[in-house]
Amino acid sequence: MHRTCGWCGTVVAGERTNCSNCGGPLPAPPGSDPGPAPGAAPRALPSAYTRGLFANFGVLFGSIFSGVGCLVITLMCGFAILLPPLALGSLLGLLFAFIGSVFLFEGVRSAFRERRVLMWGEPVVGTVLSVAGEGSFSRITWSFEVDGATHAGTCQCSDPYVLTYGEGDTLHVVWLPKEGRSAVWPPLPGLEA
Ligand SMILES: [Zn+2]
Repeated sequence: MHRTCGWCGTVVAGERTNCSNCGGPLPAPPGSDPGPAPGAAPRALPSAYTRGLFANFGVLFGSIFSGVGCLVITLMCGFAILLPPLALGSLLGLLFAFIGSVFLFEGVRSAFRERRVLMWGEPVVGTVLSVAGEGSFSRITWSFEVDGATHAGTCQCSDPYVLTYGEGDTLHVVWLPKEGRSAVWPPLPGLEA
């Protein structure tokens, strides 16, 4: 069975341990061996992953909206030389630019947040709690123990390969206690949620 690289989205043969495109490590296959442990933080992440992370909806939509807003402001101020009331049109541009910058800010913030857990998270061995299909997605939930406390994490994954994991299988997890968030290491393709 094929699987999708969580770093760059390339589909590779299921038995591979590293991606044929970006070279990034892939999560261990289902079973009790979680594979090689994550290196010491800060970890270098494949550049294809960082690029993809910042090309998210918020960044793309926000950039377009802000761009259109700035264009409207410029045009309206220009035309206002001929017809002064048109200067009011720049308020519409200002609104566009404001909405765009909110999305842009949120997009950049979420990209840094996802990168942070993989770069700086404390490594721990986690156990798969459940896997289930959710329409075209698959949800995987894991738990892990740190200092006697049990924590859980979940990911909405875009790769059906995840459904081959079963309850009790082990995976490496990286954990940011300050933010209360964890991620599977190496990452699974999909949305953190
Ligand atoms: Zn890859």
